[in-house]
Amino acid sequence: MHTGGCCCGAIRFEVLGPTTGVTYCHCSKCRRWHGHVGAYTAVDRRDFRFVQERGLAWYVVSATVRRGFCRECGSTLFFDDAEDLAKLALCPGAFDAPTGLKEKAHIFLGSQGDYYAVQDALLKFDALPVRASPKP
Ligand SMILES: [Zn+2]
Ligand SMILES: [Zn+2]
Repeated sequence: MHTGGCCCGAIRFEVLGPTTGVTYCHCSKCRRWHGHVGAYTAVDRRDFRFVQERGLAWYVVSATVRRGFCRECGSTLFFDDAEDLAKLALCPGAFDAPTGLKEKAHIFLGSQGDYYAVQDALLKFDALPVRASPKP
């Protein structure tokens, strides 16, 4: 089980199932919203629950996408895409240690900032990775 929350404790959550590898998103919207590159792990919605959501607020980005944050301390925590019905994306910096998480990939490198370099050995994609078709 993973636990986590915002800086001030007005949002606390539990994850009772597996997490995906951490993906860094370099798109301009993530960089503006987080102050730098976004980082996300995805969890099954059925495995996620709030323990405290007093501070929870949503920035509505589009008809299907919203970003969750704490209205009391400003921590950025969630990326919720209603078109991805199975998964909710969480910011790994919100997890309590030890997280057990591992880095996996960079996405949207085609719109990365001009003030840093990406020089690690993780998977790299200019936009979203093309989803592999399921094996028969
Ligand atoms: Zn907070
Ligand atoms: Zn992004």
